[in-house]
Amino acid sequence: MKLQPVRGTRDIYGDEARLFREIDQHFAKTASLFDFQEIETPIFEFTSVFQRTLGEGSDIVNKEMYTFEDRSGDSLTLRPEGTASVARAVISNSMLRDLPLKLFYSGPMFRHERPQKGRYRQFTQFGIELIGVPTPVADIEVLACAWMFFKNCQLSDKVQLELNTIGDADSRDQYRSRLVSHFEKFSKDLSEDSQVRLKSNPLRILDSKDPKDQALIADAPLFSDSLNPASQQFFDQVVEGLNQLNIPFQLNSKLVRGLDYYCHTVFEFTTTHLGSQNAVLSGGRYNDLIESMGGPSTPGVGWAAGTDRLALLLEKPRTHHQNVAVIAAVAEAEPLLLPLVSELRDNNIASQLIYSGNMSKQLKKANKRNCSHAILIGEDEIQSGQYQLKHFADGSQISVSKQELLRKLKEL
Ligand code: ATP
Ligand code: MG
Repeated sequence: MKLQPVRGTRDIYGDEARLFREIDQHFAKTASLFDFQEIETPIFEFTSVFQRTLGEGSDIVNKEMYTFEDRSGDSLTLRPEGTASVARAVISNSMLRDLPLKLFYSGPMFRHERPQKGRYRQFTQFGIELIGVPTPVADIEVLACAWMFFKNCQLSDKVQLELNTIGDADSRDQYRSRLVSHFEKFSKDLSEDSQVRLKSNPLRILDSKDPKDQALIADAPLFSDSLNPASQQFFDQVVEGLNQLNIPFQLNSKLVRGLDYYCHTVFEFTTTHLGSQNAVLSGGRYNDLIESMGGPSTPGVGWAAGTDRLALLLEKPRTHHQNVAVIAAVAEAEPLLLPLVSELRDNNIASQLIYSGNMSKQLKKANKRNCSHAILIGEDEIQSGQYQLKHFADGSQISVSKQELLRKLKEL
């Protein structure tokens, strides 16, 4: 029997692990530039944290949550996303007295979906939440942060920002009833899922990828016609801010996002490079979430991005890394290896031992392990204190004193 990980989960190692770390570092650096502070919430919560807040009509709550009863009989859920957990955390820790709160997080999320490339049952998200600012400047700031992240990873030419507004509650009520009367005329032609959505969450029909729904969606009324003046003005200011900052975007009037807690600005960065898993970062404004969880009425806006998909997008050859192999040419030199490699590391020079094999085998291994240099210690070196420094890229080899050796390697 071959031991396999659970369907939809996988081990992350090698290049993928390297890309994950790279992405996380770019993200932490970008978030810090905007003065977001890190928060780490547990990977499971009481089920109620997600159930009511994400919405009973949402795909996540209906069919994707990993919910189980623990040994104390409590219903717990592996977190399917980060925003509800962060909202719970800022209430639990009484963090809302000092606003605005600017938080960032990164970690594994869990959804029971059909696994495919870029879609897993355990995946990694990172995200930011800007809590306590009711004005459009916050929406602009979180979008600017996303855009800067993509620029820092050199991905800005592979993604496209799609933007929409779903207005305030009044505008949404108006739109919902216009939408229902539109779709009711064709309810028999809708997909089965969308017939259910028509009752539970009609806005979600716009999200449907079912070909049966597509034609009916194309003729659906536009949200912009239901926006009241206050909502329209809010959105105009977001658009103006993006233009001012030269952040390119496309208006997408069909973008609604799947969760109940959103209002006003909703957005998604998409890519054409990943097939149907085309969303890499998404988010929006959530003015009622914290209050609905029992906290004081506090607005928020934020986004989450998928590390797994970004790693696929970023896929690029490993950059040659500076690493020095320390090799004994004769048995007598072996006692010198550990002290030398330790001195190199004390000097911040990445270095390694090869552990086994004669000199020529060790050189081959060092090359295969992508080392940039090798230091050879032989009979002469023991007597004269000189070391052979080999540069794999051009095959050159020079004889240097310890001091020169450290100087040369530090310069690299
Ligand atoms: P999709 O429409 O692809 O299902 P979503 O709207 O459910 O995405 P969000 O809940 O907004 O996604 O999550 C934010 C980001 O997390 C997505 O843009 C995507 O990059 C990533 N993501 C979501 N679900 C998965 C998954 N099952 N596997 C890998 N990444 C995911
Ligand atoms: Mg989804």
